Amino acid sequence: MFRRRGFFAALTIVAAGASLGLTSSAEAAPHQAASAVPVGTIAVSTSGHACLTRSSAPTANVECGASLVQKWLRSRGQASVVRHTVLVPAGTVGGWPSSTTGGVCGFSGLAVRPTGMHHCDGITFVDPISDRDLIRTRLAAFTMLAHESAHGVQERRGKDPVAAYLVRDRSAMLPMEQQADCWAGAALNWAIRQNHFDAGQLPAARAFFRSIGHPGSGHGSGAAREAQLLQGYAGGAKACGLA
Ligand SMILES: [Zn+2]
Repeated sequence: MFRRRGFFAALTIVAAGASLGLTSSAEAAPHQAASAVPVGTIAVSTSGHACLTRSSAPTANVECGASLVQKWLRSRGQASVVRHTVLVPAGTVGGWPSSTTGGVCGFSGLAVRPTGMHHCDGITFVDPISDRDLIRTRLAAFTMLAHESAHGVQERRGKDPVAAYLVRDRSAMLPMEQQADCWAGAALNWAIRQNHFDAGQLPAARAFFRSIGHPGSGHGSGAAREAQLLQGYAGGAKACGLA
């Protein structure tokens, strides 16, 4: 899920910074090790401790959500899809050639051009400021982080969701975004069966997906996003074409 107007401009800034060596993040970017947390970002713990607290602080929601997504991926034998979930502090930028797709991966916490929550090259990025509505509850954070993990699965399968976004190819974006919403539904079903969430929270998840859709966008309308969530919830990863 990108901030639609901001991402291209932000990556342009990232690319410019990298070529000029303007920031420490950008300087380090060409040498970004595949297993490292991107310079300038903060690793999110996936220990699961945050799930044991009653805290509904946004960062606790991200920590709990990220740990549950790791459990979900591990249960599927796909734990390596998300190597890190990281927070993007205000004012930081970075970018590098993706080791997964051969395209680019990057992030921006610039207030004017935040990239927002997205996934590339094994890393899920969360901007606590621009993503605040997406991480307000544990349920929202989990389903959004699960959605992002689908983009990691897609990258492993030769797709490049970021590239589709960068060239504004909505017809290429939409099936990948819908597949990611479906995958989030499959993950939610798993999480409910594992007692991480109450089954009574399905309506809240549906309402949340309805609220974040935009007709004509690369992510689809609210109704379409809800429908995809339900498809994955009912049919699992297989129903998303990601078995
Ligand atoms: Zn997405």
